Amino acid sequence: MPELTPLEDALKVVLESIKPLNKERVFLYECLGRVLATDVVSDTDKPLFDNSAMDGYAVIYEDIKDASEDKPIELQLIGEYSAGTSESLKVGRGMAVKIFTGAPIPEGADTVVPVEYTELRNGKVYIKRAFNKGANIRLRGEDIKEGEIVIPRGRELNSYDVGMIASVNRAIVEVYRKPDVAILSTGDELLELGEIQQRSSQIRSSNHHMLYSLVKRAGATPHQLGIAPDEPSMLLETLKACHNYDIFITTGGVSMGEKDYVQYLVKEVGVDVKFHKLRIKPAKPVLFGTYGDGKLFFGLPGNPVSCAVAFDLLVYPAIKSMMGAKEVFKRKVKAKLVGGFKRRDAKRREFARARLWFEENYYLCEPLKKQQSHMLTSMVEGNAYMIVYEGVSELREGNWVEVVPFGDCP
Ligand code: AMP
Ligand code: MG
Repeated sequence: MPELTPLEDALKVVLESIKPLNKERVFLYECLGRVLATDVVSDTDKPLFDNSAMDGYAVIYEDIKDASEDKPIELQLIGEYSAGTSESLKVGRGMAVKIFTGAPIPEGADTVVPVEYTELRNGKVYIKRAFNKGANIRLRGEDIKEGEIVIPRGRELNSYDVGMIASVNRAIVEVYRKPDVAILSTGDELLELGEIQQRSSQIRSSNHHMLYSLVKRAGATPHQLGIAPDEPSMLLETLKACHNYDIFITTGGVSMGEKDYVQYLVKEVGVDVKFHKLRIKPAKPVLFGTYGDGKLFFGLPGNPVSCAVAFDLLVYPAIKSMMGAKEVFKRKVKAKLVGGFKRRDAKRREFARARLWFEENYYLCEPLKKQQSHMLTSMVEGNAYMIVYEGVSELREGNWVEVVPFGDCP
């Protein structure tokens, strides 16, 4: 690997070292946000029988084909079919059956006339408009055939999928196990929530709390390990716990500082380091390695913005892939640049925090002023990363740019 690993190469290395976790069976209500491990197939044709799409009258097309407002067709009403009916009437020429949405089409009928185009008088139905043969009838199997795959393996299940799974009579769903992800902030200067500030050089740690919620949001199970000091023997003890988890994430201690021990200590706990620096901005110091049987170690930078960017670009797809998902990347959109963007050093690919919004026919994107990696405001005020590719030192107003929405951006 070159000293600065290009993002594509890094992603390739990460994704190639992953195999999906085992399958497990969960009850229908627990499958939301999980990744389906076995195709869900339909138990029957859907609909299972020809049925009415409207409240109206089941009739024979030949009887009503010339009906009009001026010359209504008179039919004999012979009965009623409601949804779930056990009636079995036979519709002959000149007859009609009153029918409700979802009720089976009675034998002999081939068309349904909606109630608003009819009139009922003295047991006779008057049809005031012609309809095509088969109108307002939902046909057996027109949506789904028996045995058809209704949700493919690898899909992250949403609420509509839950509805579909229920509709094919499945109460138990086979999904991939969720990765167990440990999170640890490192740094002598870090203060835990509520801890009293004793020196002005201490800073309140945000990374491990932000990561906890990012991991949870990505669909994995976060395990909070808190803060470890920059003290090799203590740090080593904490890192030894990595074997209990599928993924271990640390923040801080992977740069060039003398107290940046994580990069050395990981080797002692059996991590095979694959890369250590990325050709991106922010988040250059990112260490990645594998250990145990397909487990992943991510040493993310301490600066909060770098930590967030590294998570979104690398850890997020890794979690999705380990969960067995087919779609592992955040989506990208094209947007028109508002204002401009200039930079001196164009060697790295930059993920500038920006505001993205939709106006009329396209997305617009405006980079935020505060772009430094310690400024968490850019993650809070922004909702997307604007990608500035290697070699590009200036972008002008109106240029089309690629943008990756982050967080809850629609
Ligand atoms: P490091 O990567 O350890 O050199 O840290 C880089 C910068 O990020 C320093 O200014 C640290 O104080 C800051 N930092 C490190 N860890 C955290 C954390 N958990 N929360 C917020 N800032 C941090
Ligand atoms: Mg540090």
